[in-house]
Amino acid sequence: MFLLEDAREHAKMYARPCGCPRTPCHRRNMFNIAHIELFYIAQAIGAIYASDEQQALDAARRQAMREMESSTSKDVLVKPTRRIVKAIRWTEYLLTPELDSSPTLSFKTLTKATATRLKRAHRAQVQAVGRLLR
Ligand SMILES: [Zn+2]
Repeated sequence: MFLLEDAREHAKMYARPCGCPRTPCHRRNMFNIAHIELFYIAQAIGAIYASDEQQALDAARRQAMREMESSTSKDVLVKPTRRIVKAIRWTEYLLTPELDSSPTLSFKTLTKATATRLKRAHRAQVQAVGRLLR
């Protein structure tokens, strides 16, 4: 229960990002760091309290990783390294915070079936864990 209570408090504390237009904004950076932490806490909570959804998502992530790493496509898109100016919530990371912004892995190399599977499994896990964090 400690994990859940702690996570709920954390989620409540960082429910809203700073709305100011400044870039960089220290408070927005803190929000993003807090949500990267929340992402990992959410995976742990999923493993304990929503194991079906978490297992389905973990399997979809592994499949996506395999496809991206074994891609022989010569025109693998390198995503531009954008400065993080916007607020990103834990619910927005499909793989992990690090991998989602990795310039060497591209979601464009996924088959449509795997991309759909990943998005569906992600949505189900976010709903199941998100419910527990309210
Ligand atoms: Zn601000």
